[in-house]
Amino acid sequence: MRRVVALAAAACALVAAQPAAADVPKRGELRVLVALVTWGPQPATPAEVQTELARVAPWFDETSFSQLRVIAETTPGWLTIPPVSGCASLDPTLHDTADAALRGAAFDLARYDVRAYLFPRVADCPFGGRASLVAGWMELNGAFRGELIVHELAHSLGLFHSRATPCTVWSGACQVDEYGDPYDVMGDGFGPFNGFHKLRLGWIRRTSVERDGTYSVDQLERPSSSAQVLTIETAAAHYVVDHREASLEPMPVTPDPSNGVLVYRWNGDQGPVLLSAGGSPRQYLLPIGRTYEVPDVFSVTPTARVGTSVDVRFAWTDRTPPGAPTPVEPRNGVRVRNGDEPILMWDDALETGSGLGGYELTVDGVTHPLPVSETSWKQGAFPLGAHSWSVTAVDRAGNRTTSNRMSFVVEKLSPAVAILFGAQRCGATFAARCRLRGATFGFTVETAEAPVRARVTVRLARRDGGWRTVFSRRRLLDDVGDAAFTRLPALRPGLWRVTADVGGNAEVSPASRAAYVQLSAQ
Ligand SMILES: [Zn+2]
Repeated sequence: MRRVVALAAAACALVAAQPAAADVPKRGELRVLVALVTWGPQPATPAEVQTELARVAPWFDETSFSQLRVIAETTPGWLTIPPVSGCASLDPTLHDTADAALRGAAFDLARYDVRAYLFPRVADCPFGGRASLVAGWMELNGAFRGELIVHELAHSLGLFHSRATPCTVWSGACQVDEYGDPYDVMGDGFGPFNGFHKLRLGWIRRTSVERDGTYSVDQLERPSSSAQVLTIETAAAHYVVDHREASLEPMPVTPDPSNGVLVYRWNGDQGPVLLSAGGSPRQYLLPIGRTYEVPDVFSVTPTARVGTSVDVRFAWTDRTPPGAPTPVEPRNGVRVRNGDEPILMWDDALETGSGLGGYELTVDGVTHPLPVSETSWKQGAFPLGAHSWSVTAVDRAGNRTTSNRMSFVVEKLSPAVAILFGAQRCGATFAARCRLRGATFGFTVETAEAPVRARVTVRLARRDGGWRTVFSRRRLLDDVGDAAFTRLPALRPGLWRVTADVGGNAEVSPASRAAYVQLSAQ
C-alpha cells in the first residue's frame, strides 16, 4: 500500500524555469483541475479517477479544520495529446500540449489554482507523482490514488517532505530519510500534516518557547483553541514539538505516538527532520517522563498527558556565555564636539548555543535593553564631559558577556582657522612671512568647524618698534564659515601682523590665528 511519492527537490529544480504564478491559496477555496490526457492508453476510467479525487477534499477539510476547501474536478473524458518521448519532455512539452487540449475543450484555465496532468505511465519517470512547490501544477504518472493526490497537492501548498533521522543527537553527518516520518502524509504515513507544516500554513496556534517552564501542547488532529505546537529557536536551528493522538488519525499508526511528543528540527532547508528523540534509532516518540536534550542548548521533558494535551517541561541547558560584542564607534578616548550626536555602534556577538537573545547597553551607568537586531544606539547630544559605555550580549538562556568599557569626551573643540591672502597662506611666525603688495591687500578668514553665525575680529598691527594695532574690523562668518576682508585702507609698506579671532559658541571654543606679511609699496 506504500505510495509512490515525488521528490520535492526535483520539483524545485524544475520550478526555476517556470514563469511566476500566483501563490496557491492556503485558506479558502483551492480549485483543482485534473486533466486526463493520453496518446492512446487510458490508465482508468474518468469515474475511477473521480472516486479517488472525491477523497481529497474531505481529507483537506479535516486536516485544515475546514480552513481550506478543495474543489476538484476531472475532465469529463480523456483528451488526446501527442505522445511524449520520455520523462524529460513532460515539462514543458506535455504541460503545453495538455493546456492546448484543455483550451480546445473550452476549459478556462485561469479558474484553477492547481492543474494536475494525469497521463499514461511514462516508463523512464522515477516517480508516481511530482509537483511544483510554488507554480500550481502536478504530474500524475499513471497513478491517481487519493493519498498521492493529497501528497502532491500539499507540495502545491509549499509543503516539504516530512523527513526523519535515526540520529538522537543531530549532526551534519546524520542520515536523513526523505520520507522517514511514519505519521505524516508528507512522509511515510497517512496522518495529517505535522505541526511544523500546519503552523506554516497558518492553520494552528503555537507557543514560542523562550523561558524555562512547563508548556502545554494540544493534539494536532482536531481544532483547538490552545497551542498545537511548541517552537524553540536556537542559534543553529528551529525546533518544533507536536503531539498526535493515534485515535484521531485516519488509519492505525505504529508506533503509537499518543503517550508523548514528537520533536522536529529544521534549519531552513528542504523540510523538517523528525528526530529519534526517544533515545535510539527511529524511536521517534519522546514518551512521558523521558528527557530529550540538544546537548548544551536545551532539554524538553513531557511530564503529563492531560486529556488530548501533553505538558512539556522546557529548560535551557546552555551554560556557555556568548562572545563579547566588539564596540566600533565612537573609538575609545575620542573627543566629540559639543552638540554632535554620537552613535554608539558595536559588532554582533558570536553565540552558537541557544542563540543571542538581546543586548544591554550601559551608558553612564544607565542600562538600556535592546533587541538582538540592534547594534547601534543614539540618544541625541551628550552633556559636556567624559562618558563611558559598554554593551553586554545576552543569550536566550540568560548567559551574558560584556564588552570592554569604552569612553569618549564631549567638549568644545577649537575651530581650525586659516587666513588666505589670495591663494597664499602666510606664515604664522615672523620668519615665515610672505611678501605682498600693499595696494591690493585683502584676505579671507576661513574656518572649518564653523560656529554658526559667529563673529570674526581681525586686527592689523604694524611693526613699529613694538607691534601697534592700526585698525580692526569685525564681520559675521557666512554660511560656510568664511569672512572676506577687502577694500581695506591703504597700508604703509613694512611688516604687518594680521590676527583673526573667531568667537566661540555652545559648540566650539574661541580660536585665533596670526599671519605675517611684508607689504611692498606697490
Ligand atoms: Zn513528495
